[in-house]
Amino acid sequence: SAPILAAHAVTKSFGSTPALRDADLSVAAGEVLAIMGPSGSGKSTLLHCLAGILSPDTGEIIFDGHSLNTMSENERTLVRRDRFGFVFQFGQLVPELPVLENVMLPLLLGHTSRRMARAAATALLDRLDLSGLHRRRPGELSGGQAQRVAVARALVNQPKVVFADEPTGSLDSLAGENVMDLLLTAAREQDATVVLVTHDARVAACADREVLVRDGEVTDYATVASVDPDG
Ligand code: ADP
Ligand code: ADP
Repeated sequence: SAPILAAHAVTKSFGSTPALRDADLSVAAGEVLAIMGPSGSGKSTLLHCLAGILSPDTGEIIFDGHSLNTMSENERTLVRRDRFGFVFQFGQLVPELPVLENVMLPLLLGHTSRRMARAAATALLDRLDLSGLHRRRPGELSGGQAQRVAVARALVNQPKVVFADEPTGSLDSLAGENVMDLLLTAAREQDATVVLVTHDARVAACADREVLVRDGEVTDYATVASVDPDG
């Protein structure tokens, strides 16, 4: 079947610093893909290009059959808002708003009514066993709780693809495992594809497939889970 997301010969430089060189990557629908590599190798740049946050200098990003490059900025914004979910390392929750309101935000930005947004956010928090946190502010949460709320927020709009950039980077290993469990379970329940940047091999081991970025070049290596016996 056609990939849900692909990068074709993508290059991106910042001034004279090349961050991605001729990167090719294909992500199957429903797949959990981990992007690994040393610091400064281009992982975040690749993620941001795939997510339509950064525009490549050359090459193309195809999401669900549509080129992100040829869309208007406005169309890309709608794709990010309605089709993608995002989890970052930290600092993504709005500190003034309680957990429930934070989880409602992506829906409110998409012009869902407050009533519907509240119902959807409440149901998701219940399903993820986070309902006890509804009224807390982000400053009252542990790092692991905040990241689990961030996962809920990333999934509340039923995205096709969830992008996660070092989602466990600020956590100890137990809290990190809990966040990854929640992300993967919730994504699977919603048939969402997950594209994950991590330098942690234990986090990457949760993925269906890993790719390695080195000096801006992407190497695709199959893990046991994704080897096709007939291939
Ligand atoms: P990683 O996520 O693997 O740590 P990045 O994609 O963040 O790597 O960075 C790849 C390269 O691009 C690095 O040399 C980095 O310094 C550079 N870079 C990334 N973002 C910017 C930016 N906004 N401005 C200038 N250089 C950048
Ligand atoms: P309820 O009907 O449950 O009282 P409200 O809509 O009155 O719901 O508020 C829900 C929560 O959101 C409350 O904790 C309230 O303090 C908080 N809240 C509402 N608006 C804001 C805002 N603009 N900034 C911060 N917190 C807010």
